[in-house]
Amino acid sequence: MNIHEYQGKSILKSFGVAVQNGRVADSPESAHEAAIQLAEETGTDWFVLKAQIHAGGRGKGTVQETGSHGVVIAKGLEQVKEKAAGILGGHLVTAQTNAQGKQVSMVLIAEDVYGPGDSEPKEIYMSVLLDRANSRNIIMYSPQGGMDIEAVAEDTPELIFKESIDPAVGLQGFQARRVAFNLGLSGKAFKEMTKFVTSLYNAYVGCDATMFEINPVLKTSDDRVIAVDAKVSLDGNALYRHSDYAAMRDFSEEDASEVEADAAGLNYVKLDGNVGCMVNGAGLAMATMDIIKLSGGEPANFLDVGGTADAARVEMAFRIILKDPSVKAILVNIFGGIVRCDRVAQGVVDAYRNMGNIEVPIIVRLQGTNAQEAKKLIDESGLKVRSVILLKEAAEAIAEVVA
Ligand code: GDP
Ligand code: MN
Repeated sequence: MNIHEYQGKSILKSFGVAVQNGRVADSPESAHEAAIQLAEETGTDWFVLKAQIHAGGRGKGTVQETGSHGVVIAKGLEQVKEKAAGILGGHLVTAQTNAQGKQVSMVLIAEDVYGPGDSEPKEIYMSVLLDRANSRNIIMYSPQGGMDIEAVAEDTPELIFKESIDPAVGLQGFQARRVAFNLGLSGKAFKEMTKFVTSLYNAYVGCDATMFEINPVLKTSDDRVIAVDAKVSLDGNALYRHSDYAAMRDFSEEDASEVEADAAGLNYVKLDGNVGCMVNGAGLAMATMDIIKLSGGEPANFLDVGGTADAARVEMAFRIILKDPSVKAILVNIFGGIVRCDRVAQGVVDAYRNMGNIEVPIIVRLQGTNAQEAKKLIDESGLKVRSVILLKEAAEAIAEVVA
């Protein structure tokens, strides 16, 4: 589960990670209020205003309606209202959004931690993630922060460092010191960095994150080390341990069909193709997407209806798939192991009747227990549904439809 920067920072802060202080607002007036309070708390008189959307590249991104960037500096309280108005309500387009951009409904007002123009803050890149191949966590970091890390990896791979951590042992002191050393820090900044990395790693483990990306981590000119940005992804399967994090989910940032499917207990991921698929089991779903591609189509989605493919679930799945206007055909590929094929077939027939006029061709491949009975049921239903038993026949049927 992805969350907003301000939420990520609040989690980091709860684990003792130093973050840039800030407050969120949803209107220019409340942004002004927030800035007044922030000035009282921190003594800052410059502020940074940051659009809160689930996408990076905001600093270089542009709000379509106003031309403002997604991250802007307000040099004084009197600029806050106007600058917030340039961001709020508009659509922010960045390298990580589509051409329509994402609508901004909240702005983070944070203390400017870069200091006056003649100081020398240093932007560092740091992420924490899982190294599946080695069953370890890794901290990836670079002294070349603030910019596009992919470009750094491409042009100067020697400036990207990795620290591999045994999860049973945790981050060791010497590892934290190696991070600070490789970043070229010394004195107070060195110490601050070892503290920062240690608390960041503890936060990663403690909040059940799947990824942290802090770009930039700032070494200020007075040698403090602070998280300025925070991209935090939490493990959805661990949310039951953190009821307070579950409330951080922002449904408006997610695909509406995926949210609906999730609520109905269906595993649905929207893709860009033209052939919708409805399958039971994730492995079969992936194999089915391969078949669609090999037949000349492109899968429009991944959809696992799960073990109980009854009429209600099949109907829900049809409704979700058919919301996507690019779907030109639907392939239903169900293996009847625990569930009998004739029951699924009945589910397909009932769902089809309930929904009235489905225009796109439907190919149903049912294999397993009572496959013949299932085929007969569909063939005799009088519906425009083509039933097959062999996967090869299903592939041929798709090839015909998408030709
Ligand atoms: P992103 O573009 O979505 O990754 O957003 P960031 O939070 O990384 O901000 C983008 C850039 O804005 C940073 O790389 C900084 O250069 C700049 N920035 C962020 N916070 C401050 C701040 O407090 N003061 C100044 N002067 N610049 C900031
Ligand atoms: Mn960033």
